[in-house]
Amino acid sequence: MKQTRFDVIVVGAGMVGAALACALGLSGKRVALLEPHLPASFDLDAEPDLRVSAINRASQALFERLGVWQALAAQRISPFENMTVWDATGSGEIHFDSAEMGEPYLGHIIENRLVQWALLQRLAQLASVTVIEAALSELAFEPDQVTVSLADGTELSAELLVGADGAHSRVRALAGIEVLSRAYDQKGIVCHVATEKPHQRTAWQRFLPSGPLAFLPLADGRCSLVWSCDDAVAEQMMALSDEDFRLELAQAFGERLGAVTAVSERAAFPLLRRHAEQYVKPRLALVGDAAHTIHPLAGQGVNIGLLDASALTESLLESKGDLGQLRVLRRYERWRRGNNSLMMHTMDGFYRVFGNDHLPLVPLRNFALSFADRVSPLKSQLMRHAMGLEGDLPQWSRS
Ligand SMILES: Cc1cc2nc3c(=O)[nH]c(=O)nc-3n(C[C@H](O)[C@H](O)[C@H](O)COP(=O)(O)OP(=O)(O)OC[C@H]3O[C@@H](n4cnc5c(N)ncnc54)[C@H](O)[C@@H]3O)c2cc1C
Repeated sequence: MKQTRFDVIVVGAGMVGAALACALGLSGKRVALLEPHLPASFDLDAEPDLRVSAINRASQALFERLGVWQALAAQRISPFENMTVWDATGSGEIHFDSAEMGEPYLGHIIENRLVQWALLQRLAQLASVTVIEAALSELAFEPDQVTVSLADGTELSAELLVGADGAHSRVRALAGIEVLSRAYDQKGIVCHVATEKPHQRTAWQRFLPSGPLAFLPLADGRCSLVWSCDDAVAEQMMALSDEDFRLELAQAFGERLGAVTAVSERAAFPLLRRHAEQYVKPRLALVGDAAHTIHPLAGQGVNIGLLDASALTESLLESKGDLGQLRVLRRYERWRRGNNSLMMHTMDGFYRVFGNDHLPLVPLRNFALSFADRVSPLKSQLMRHAMGLEGDLPQWSRS
């Protein structure tokens, strides 16, 4: 059987896998990128993707280095300059303004499908990367290489295999890596909504006892809704007619943007925190949702996945010789696993503190929000971390 040899095989061309393949390809590595569902095109006239991400400055810096940012910026992306977060139970509120921080914006809301498409277009220009429309079915680790089998019998081999195949990673399962998981017993409902007042380039988030409700500004003037709510509430909301859902939503969000005038189709995603017990094994590394999934309340999931891609690239490029050596891969794991774990626990803290209406906690958290709002250095520090302007950032992700 014919076997094709690469330096690295990346499994999964979601935003993280495609970015990693691009970074490695630009660095001269021979890369195979496997993806069973390659999009045929990106249609600017089509309804925006229901899945959008708040792309922070670290992710933007990576996209700039990969040569895709210009292509993204020429499409329908939506910079946001402000963020307002408030508690439905009380008067606590915090407001972040990019101008106060001396920055032009806090981040951009971009459709996931657009990011993936821009990266795939860039990959098509790189002779060092071979994109293969197929799913991984089996893999075998040998002392000097890893071999991947595709459904049609093709075999590929490489020094290193990277699992970027999402939350239900087959790579992770085949490698026998366990996952620590915790169900939030919530679903994230997503849809697009039109509102009476303009969104003012602001990301709005209201903490309700049943979970956070975010309205994120879209380029077409509507907002992308992410409503993380308890399973029972989510089930009720998904069963409502558009008209009844619109009314429930208006009630839950309050008056800030006036009436909710229209809602699009809806989708709901179960929310789980998952963390792979190991990110690496000899000849294997996990990145993105294959390694971790977190609560979407601070819009950090893909941003930390893209930091994985940058850190892994940097660790591999610094190494001499075999890319699959555990010593090299451990550097990546040490770098990213602790940082991701901290982010997950921070999100859990928010989830717990805001997701309940225990009486002693309500005034305390309202006080904390309003206090943080008044203390500029604290506020600025919080925001700079969320924007990816500070922290233990790989070179590829530095602005
Ligand atoms: C409601 C919601 C809102 C969110 N909002 C934000 C936000 O605002 N900001 C943010 O940063 N994050 C957000 N996230 C998280 C973000 O969407 C994910 O972290 C991100 O999409 C993960 O990207 P990925 O490339 O790691 O995985 P995926 O996007 O899951 O990509 C995995 C790819 O692997 C492919 N694949 C699967 N199996 C195989 C196989 N056997 N062989 C080959 N390929 C395979 C799949 O087809 C897919 O293309 C949100 C998540 C949810 C649920």
